Amino acid sequence: MMGTPTGATGTNGIVIAVLKEQVPGEQRVAAVPEVVKNFTKAGYEVRVEHDAGAGAFYPDDLFVAGGAKIVPGRAELLDGATIVLCVQPPTPADVGMLAEGTIIIGFMNPAGNLPAIALMRDRKVTAFALELVPRITRAQSMDALSSQATAGGYAAAILGADNCPKFLPMLTTAAGTIRPATVLILGAGVAGLMAIATARRLGAMVEAYDVRRAAGEQVRSLGAKFLELEIDAEGEGGYARELTPEEKVKEQEMVSAAVARADIVITTASIPGRRAPVLITRETVARMRPGAVIVDLAAESGGNCELTRSGKTVWEHGVTIIGPQNLPARVAFHASQMYARNLQSFLSLLVGKDGSIPREFTDEILAASLLVHAGVVRHKPTDDLIRGGKP
Ligand code: NAD
Repeated sequence: MMGTPTGATGTNGIVIAVLKEQVPGEQRVAAVPEVVKNFTKAGYEVRVEHDAGAGAFYPDDLFVAGGAKIVPGRAELLDGATIVLCVQPPTPADVGMLAEGTIIIGFMNPAGNLPAIALMRDRKVTAFALELVPRITRAQSMDALSSQATAGGYAAAILGADNCPKFLPMLTTAAGTIRPATVLILGAGVAGLMAIATARRLGAMVEAYDVRRAAGEQVRSLGAKFLELEIDAEGEGGYARELTPEEKVKEQEMVSAAVARADIVITTASIPGRRAPVLITRETVARMRPGAVIVDLAAESGGNCELTRSGKTVWEHGVTIIGPQNLPARVAFHASQMYARNLQSFLSLLVGKDGSIPREFTDEILAASLLVHAGVVRHKPTDDLIRGGKP
């Protein structure tokens, strides 16, 4: 339903535009009515593209109630917009509609979106990439990677349970006792920890493994067993470093044995900027129990299982191997709410109470997440990639 286009005009001179996501299967939206209400109260004018929230079950009239104006077309939405909010990275066609000086904030997938980023540079658009928000305490409320990984981890556990032919909890019934299912989580970062917590709530026995030994304490605190390998592969900034070839063999043996005894395996292992490590080989899948399920959260970055096909479910040796794309979109309502709150927090850092936006972004969080500004790609690795493609 279209709302009446009578949204309040902002008082701080800033116009926020919320895009309707175009990527197939993307159900999320970058702002939700609760956050829009806070924006309008703070003096922003907010425009929302018609049906932007429909996929996440936020109808237009709720945005109108929050003080937003619903705009039917993109050109009208973006005309005069100061700040554009999105979930998925903008395409070159989107960027072509942004005027010089417009600020766009969302996931930018820097390495995978070079033509659009080069165009933002040429059109002097300012882009902040949420992937680049540093993982420091002060930035936690803006950490969209974490909020969306939380949604993804939850959805992965539910998907695994739904495809498993067993009960997850132990049951004591008149028909006898049912043993609980065993769920194995490989990679205990944000998504993995949420998958552990969810599988535990469903009553499963949960085991988990991560190359970072520090993850052990968090895994145990959720009531799961942490598989120990005599290796510590914590690298810079809390992320994993790559293992040596000998370490990889040891890891493989221990992981394979755990995979073979699991009913559901959820894999989330990734190393930023690289192909996901293969943790489950074809041979290991052949050792698994018939009816077992693998949910490979790393499907989009190459997969943690050798047999995973991104966006597909395949059956091999009686094992269901699911390679989901965009799991957070399956819990679009709450994933959008969390994402929108992340953006609200980011905006409170970017825009002064009087509506002023600095010309240069010296704050550590803003500077780190600034991808493109004033005709320059500010994120060096992305700039190098663009220059590499265009000597
Ligand atoms: P991620 O998505 O980059 O990777 C998921 C997990 O896979 C990580 O825990 C990683 O150690 C693990 N992994 C990589 N290679 C593996 C392998 N071969 N076998 C098993 N596991 C493997 O991780 P993430 O969820 O983004 O979190 C990365 C780190 O950042 C974690 O230490 C997390 O606690 C930390 N973090 C800090 C903050 C903060 O302080 N604000 C916020 C979020 C995350």
